[in-house]
Amino acid sequence: MNETVKCPACGSKGHRVDGATVKSMLAVSLRHVRDIPYRFCANPDCDVVYYGSDGAQTFTTHQVRERVYQKEPGADDVLICYCFQHTPADIRQHVAQSTQATLIDDINAGIQAGQCACDWRNPQGNCCLGNVRQFVKYLETAPITSEGE
Ligand SMILES: [Zn+2]
Repeated sequence: MNETVKCPACGSKGHRVDGATVKSMLAVSLRHVRDIPYRFCANPDCDVVYYGSDGAQTFTTHQVRERVYQKEPGADDVLICYCFQHTPADIRQHVAQSTQATLIDDINAGIQAGQCACDWRNPQGNCCLGNVRQFVKYLETAPITSEGE
């Protein structure tokens, strides 16, 4: 089969997601789901969340049940860790109080305890930890901005 790797809307290369992820995330009838591989588009400027490997079928942000972190990089209240309900605002607070290591330990503990369900809860279909670490790193290296000026 000739599989489309690039998002038909924006052309960026998406990663494969499990069919179960697509099914659990869609807000539209699952009758639309076909027995083909799906990919996740992480481009923040693109409205497509999932696309089929035939290059014809797409599901946009309006057709999924969750707000997608990758599609709203500037939002403070979107979930970044879907299993344990952490938002950028939440993580920002941890970094401000220098407790980000505790937060990451807590997420890891949850993963170890088998409490995470990234395949079904995170639109990207895999673990959020990379995103959390990346965001923490960004906050740690970001210049300190003073509010209310
Ligand atoms: Zn796209």
